[in-house]
Amino acid sequence: MRWSQAFIPTLREDPAEAEAASHRLLVRGGFVRQLSAGHYSMLPLGQRVRARIGRIIRREMDAIGGQQFHLPALIPGELWKRSGRWDLVGEELFRLIDRKGADQVLGFTHEEVFAHLATEVPSYRDLPQIWYQIQTKFRDEPRPKGGVLRVREFTMKDSYSLDINTDGLDHAFDLHHGAYRRIFAALGLEAVDVEASSGAMGGTKSVEFVVRSPAGEDWIVSCPRCDYRANLERAVSALPPVADPNGKASLERFPTPGIKTIAALAKGFPDLAQPARQIKTLVYLVNDAITLVLVRGDHELLEQKLVDATGAAKIRPATAEEIRAALGADPGSLGGVGVREFPIIADNELSGRTHLVTGANEDGVHYRGVDVGRDIPVGKWVSLRATSAGEPCIRCGSPLEVWKAIEVGHIFKLGTRYSEVMGALVQDEDGQSRPIVMGSYGIGLERAMAAVVEANSDERGIVWPASVAPYQVVLTVLRVDDPDTMAAGERLYEELIGRGIEVILDDRNERPGVKFADAELIGIPYRVTIGPKGLAAGKVELTIRRGLFTEEVEVGSLLGRLSELLA
Ligand code: ATP
Ligand code: MG
Repeated sequence: MRWSQAFIPTLREDPAEAEAASHRLLVRGGFVRQLSAGHYSMLPLGQRVRARIGRIIRREMDAIGGQQFHLPALIPGELWKRSGRWDLVGEELFRLIDRKGADQVLGFTHEEVFAHLATEVPSYRDLPQIWYQIQTKFRDEPRPKGGVLRVREFTMKDSYSLDINTDGLDHAFDLHHGAYRRIFAALGLEAVDVEASSGAMGGTKSVEFVVRSPAGEDWIVSCPRCDYRANLERAVSALPPVADPNGKASLERFPTPGIKTIAALAKGFPDLAQPARQIKTLVYLVNDAITLVLVRGDHELLEQKLVDATGAAKIRPATAEEIRAALGADPGSLGGVGVREFPIIADNELSGRTHLVTGANEDGVHYRGVDVGRDIPVGKWVSLRATSAGEPCIRCGSPLEVWKAIEVGHIFKLGTRYSEVMGALVQDEDGQSRPIVMGSYGIGLERAMAAVVEANSDERGIVWPASVAPYQVVLTVLRVDDPDTMAAGERLYEELIGRGIEVILDDRNERPGVKFADAELIGIPYRVTIGPKGLAAGKVELTIRRGLFTEEVEVGSLLGRLSELLA
């Protein structure tokens, strides 16, 4: 490509409201343009980067036996109703009605359609299969953010494994795990795997690949000593137990006039009601049903854990009116003692505790001497709280670290949830009909592109790893009006193309400063500067974008040196 003919609209200024480095630099470098919130046009440079990322992903998917498909983005709502995700995925799902009045959805992921296709697999002898596509996904994200990091329309490599049993699924999952490691390494991303929540996808196990970055929106809990790593939505720690007083607790009501908060109760009754000895009672609507959610007084509920524990499509805190109607009291005096009309879910840290304090469902009255096991009919014990930095690792006891990350990939063991409802059954060895055991695996291409930029930039612009750069080499001709210099540039250009090197010839009639600044902004890994002075001595300059190291190279040995660097 000749720069003089290319559409590379670089900007001198950062776009307004762009915080993330990738957002700033991909817009400034002329890679992408926003059309509307969460929708970006890929300009030629962005398209080239995304295509290279796609090629790397395809190579690794093919290497584990993946077969590429291409499915419609518009999916009959009927399939989503059958899988249950029509109700489970809320407003993030783009829905529309066609002219015949039929419900349609824009693909959020494609479990339903692939499971539907899997009905054509006749026998266990045709398994295993790995099916994938690289295709547009739509999600009506509440907060599109960070340029292409979180958008409403993006390209995903999504793959699906089909197996006869869970051993097969475990193997397919491991194959993907390995492929993902190789993909992220090839992209120049230091991605690590963490235990994750499966959310609305369902299934038994999921692992995310994340890249540490302040631009990320996920919090990761990790142990610096052992290999424990988990998304905060899933992370647990080994909190030291609270020592409750000895002896049998006797349940008693006591007046607490005007007290509305954990802190006020602790202040008013310091011997009795330190926050760790209180029960915090939250009232939620879980799929529209009033539910009591209990955590220790000094702990915070993590809503995603409640979603995961209940499998609910929607949860929200109850309003003050709903709480009063259900329990007869206002927040500040709520509790679960003797409550049988509503389900109660409690955090593990309350298990076995005695001599606790909680609201009595009467304004200005609390209970003391609460023995959770005896007095509160807890229906479900789970981890509901957010782990924080410094708490002991569940595996080795070392203090945990908490950091921000970008989720770049996610792999799920789905099991038979989709195959059962779609009727994707195969005959096993004994002629028995069995649902296919599935996994699903995703990588977002534009988010990967942004993550690469987050991890590879300096004050002058992007520093692409050669594997994903839009061009590997830029030939910067310093004096395009000098025929000899231009001819030397053209000759090198042809030679590099002949060697299969992706090269852009900067033949613009611009000042060197402008050309250098643009090349550095768009992050081409290697710049060859061709000027009359150097040429007179048979030399050009080679500048390595990472670190901006420059060396003089004989024109005759440039190809060799570049091949060496690109190898
Ligand atoms: P997040 O938690 O960031 O919303 P998710 O868990 O919903 O993501 P998955 O359903 O696991 O995402 O999707 C697989 C991959 O698709 C993600 O790992 C990410 O790379 C990409 N992806 C998901 N949502 C978006 C989005 N809104 N914009 C860009 N890429 C996305
Ligand atoms: Mg995910």
